[in-house]
Amino acid sequence: MSDFDYDLFVIGGGSGGVRAARIAATHGARVGIAEEYRYGGTCVIRGCVPKKLFVYASKFSEEFEDAEGFGWSVGERSFSWEKLIAAKDQEITRLEGLYRRNLERTNVEVHDSRAVIEGEHTVRLLSTGQTLTAKYILVAVGASPNVDNSVPGIEHVITSNEAFHMAELPRKVIVAGGGYIAVEFAGIFNGLGADTTLIYRGEEILRGFDMDLRTTVRQEMEKKGIKVILGDTFSSIEKHADGSLTGHTKSGQALEADKIMFAIGRNPHTKDLGLEQVGVEMDAKGAIRVRGDSRSSVDSIYAVGDVTDRANLTPVAIREGHAFADTVFGDKPWTVDHSLIATAVFSQPEMGTVGLTQDEALERTPNLDIYKSTFRPMKHTLSGRDEKMLMKMIVDADTQKVLGVHVVGPDAGELAQILGVTLQMGATKADFDKTIAVHPTAAEELVTMREPTEQLRG
Ligand code: NDP
Repeated sequence: MSDFDYDLFVIGGGSGGVRAARIAATHGARVGIAEEYRYGGTCVIRGCVPKKLFVYASKFSEEFEDAEGFGWSVGERSFSWEKLIAAKDQEITRLEGLYRRNLERTNVEVHDSRAVIEGEHTVRLLSTGQTLTAKYILVAVGASPNVDNSVPGIEHVITSNEAFHMAELPRKVIVAGGGYIAVEFAGIFNGLGADTTLIYRGEEILRGFDMDLRTTVRQEMEKKGIKVILGDTFSSIEKHADGSLTGHTKSGQALEADKIMFAIGRNPHTKDLGLEQVGVEMDAKGAIRVRGDSRSSVDSIYAVGDVTDRANLTPVAIREGHAFADTVFGDKPWTVDHSLIATAVFSQPEMGTVGLTQDEALERTPNLDIYKSTFRPMKHTLSGRDEKMLMKMIVDADTQKVLGVHVVGPDAGELAQILGVTLQMGATKADFDKTIAVHPTAAEELVTMREPTEQLRG
């Protein structure tokens, strides 16, 4: 019997922490876990899951309009934010219960408390003051929304955390930022009927993605009625007696809104966790520096998920947690491959992508064949909606290996998952070409793109 209370103590009950706790326990480890808010973490409680439910809700406005082209007459429509929030909360509570039960089923001891690190093997639960020891500590506390504290009046804005609990849907809303969260929430607010503006400091939204996708998504968002302001940010926020806001921008615009939401990135949640005192190295943002096996600069302390700021995505945190538990407690060492991660942005229209962007590919090789296809999704031939779908494939002209595939349009996220498998297997353009199309689908375009639309050489 070891001298420690636990073999593993996990701080943070989100996707990464819970996976690590459960897998370690199934390998026979005695595991404790602490969560200060709600089990399930950002993804389940105030991230991916409620966000996707909101996306579904917001799409009905267009579905009702599109139905008319197919012969339906849709009567008077009304939307209740209150009902949506209640239904969403019920589902989130159900999922939270599942997370908790699954931990208990594997005999993980669940603590509802903030935990801080007091030593290389010691944590303290703030709710009770109890001190516990563990052979290993795993930090999986995630990240929290960032706001720009240099902006006067910043206390009047909300972040995605609050957006999930607003008492009512704002009539007029401005979203600041141009990343995943800003773009997704702009689509949600707009679809639910709010007058929506997106303000982004750069020259095109969604930095880091392929430029053709960025432009297409922004143009399609504008067609749906979202006002997109590029190259500008807020310099101050003013709150009026009636609760309404004016956002003053650096270029001198005064933008009125009921709510202003900041979605300008997330910071690792490491403040006051006791990490500095035990010598855990962090970067300037407060992210824990880890090796490939998720071990920090202190041998007994590991970290997984957004707190390490590697690839800040739920499935990545889950993999990192799993690999950690198998390696340390299961005698099955493996590490997570952070390359070729397929991802989706639930913008409207949706975006799905895997592999290199055109610019990234050009840094690897000067010879590329680009296949690009832009078309109207079949549904919109009858609905009449002016929306285009984009598919782009980037192929190494010398080896014919497919380096990246990028899609904008309905179900692009679903496509990205399976495209991820093909790229993991090292598919060539010829592999796509010899695959018989599934007809009539949008995805068949991926196996019927005959001639490159562009050939880049040298
Ligand atoms: P992102 O890092 O995606 O985007 C942050 C945005 O804010 C960028 O457009 C950035 O601009 C801008 N920004 C940063 N600092 C400032 C500033 N001081 N003033 C004005 N603008 C600023 O962060 P998000 O908050 O959108 O999302 C956080 C993470 O959550 C993402 O990394 C993503 O991995 C994850 N996520 C994943 C989802 C999915 O898988 N579908 C959904 C939602 C979140 P610039 O580009 O110029 O730096």
